[in-house]
Amino acid sequence: MPTYIVLLGPPGAGKGTQAKVLAEKFGLPHISSGDIFRENIKNNTELGKLAQTYIHQGELVPDDLTIEMIRDRFSRPDCDNGAILDGFPRTPAQADALCKMLKGFNGKVDLVPFISAPQNVLIKRLAGRWTCRAMGGHVYHDKFNPPKQVGFCDIDGSELYQRDDDKAETVTHRIEVYLKQTTPLIDYYKERGVLVQINGFAPIEEVSKQLLSALGKPVEGK
Ligand code: ADP
Ligand code: AMP
Repeated sequence: MPTYIVLLGPPGAGKGTQAKVLAEKFGLPHISSGDIFRENIKNNTELGKLAQTYIHQGELVPDDLTIEMIRDRFSRPDCDNGAILDGFPRTPAQADALCKMLKGFNGKVDLVPFISAPQNVLIKRLAGRWTCRAMGGHVYHDKFNPPKQVGFCDIDGSELYQRDDDKAETVTHRIEVYLKQTTPLIDYYKERGVLVQINGFAPIEEVSKQLLSALGKPVEGK
């Protein structure tokens, strides 16, 4: 049976950072809806053109576009054994659509780690976030997780940039959008018995340990 893990949490909680750790550990693809949108914007595709204003303003891209994009991503063979989802779903309608999609592959959402951190911490993290231009969006932080060489990705050497939607005004709005549109998913997944709380206000390695232990792969020596 495939394994699907949904990382839930506000912008800046550490979903992307931890998704990469889990993807490696479980040998599953990391599917970030934000990364797919940014790639489409970079390539000036129809989807990119439709999504860019919403993203620029810190609004959610409409459900129908987002759901179709994820459906398309799931049709690739690397998803046959499951996936680590980061940033999707973000609304109850997306969560319902995901449930239906997964039924079609004989799967279900197995676990939803909900990563939380105080709002002032989220703001500091996003203000200092540097993202790799290559697809895969490796992320760094100028204080909390600096690259070895300023301005370049440790993994593929690509240039790092600051996301336009990480500027202070947009970040505040993105957090409001999260509180209004995405927090209903906490109860949604709690009611389905798959939510686990993760304290995201801890060093990156510590958060990874909590996640791996929740997923039944505790780090040796712990
Ligand atoms: P999200 O995907 O939830 O928006 P990211 O994984 O991109 O969040 O992390 C946001 C920023 O915070 C990045 O700059 C990342 O390097 C940094 N970061 C992630 N997790 C932690 C942590 N536990 N402690 C300190 N900084 C972190
Ligand atoms: P992220 O990379 O997860 O921070 O997402 C960046 C932006 O992409 C968000 O602020 C939204 O505009 C858009 N986005 C990403 N995922 C979704 C989603 N599941 N539903 C709607 N919009 C999304």
